Amino acid sequence: MKILLASVMLKENCYVQLKFFPGFLRDMNKMNFETLLDESVRIHGHLCPGQVLGVKMSMLGLREIGIADPKGKDRKCIIVFVEMDRCATDAVQSVTGCSLGHRTMKFIDYGKMAATFVNLRTGKAVRVIAKEESRQKAKEYFPEAENKYAAQLEAYKIMPDKELFNVMDVDVKINPEDMPGRPLRRVKCNTCGEYVQDLREVYKDGKVLCRACAGSGYYTKLRMDIF
Ligand SMILES: [Zn+2]
Ligand SMILES: [Zn+2]
Repeated sequence: MKILLASVMLKENCYVQLKFFPGFLRDMNKMNFETLLDESVRIHGHLCPGQVLGVKMSMLGLREIGIADPKGKDRKCIIVFVEMDRCATDAVQSVTGCSLGHRTMKFIDYGKMAATFVNLRTGKAVRVIAKEESRQKAKEYFPEAENKYAAQLEAYKIMPDKELFNVMDVDVKINPEDMPGRPLRRVKCNTCGEYVQDLREVYKDGKVLCRACAGSGYYTKLRMDIF
């Protein structure tokens, strides 16, 4: 059944290739939409339009940059920039295998349903953005759906990529200190004494500071030494 699926997806003359390159066939199967959605739902905790959109967005992005096995042999060749911290972000992580912890997922806080997929081997990068009008169009696919959410959930599964997304070729510069691998530097903040790595320190008035002590902290310290 799986062999049949893969051979349908490809042109006739690729069938011979499939037989002789089982590795390629295996990679193609890993990229099956239903399988990827199941896995994404399991990790995310529920099925939602964001999972469907995120899985499709990732499959499209990976295909465009020529990555067939993101969690296997291609795992060191990919970085994803996500522009949203929403349901779809988990799907992108699930499909691509990219994560903050691996430094292969970069969160860019734009509040947009978009992600950029970078092939580190070739430098090719595409930015995929969900079309605003697809939200409305989903209702036309399932006018009888009980609400917008239900319509989107089902429609996104069957809507063609062209209706769901815009794709643009982009150029992305990734600094050495943002790449996976060992930290390039590790310094102590002169004010709080905490350590800062990956060149995130700030130099101010002859001092080395962490960003929080330099004035751009997201927290205000209330009490020290809780234990
Ligand atoms: Zn969700
Ligand atoms: Zn500090």
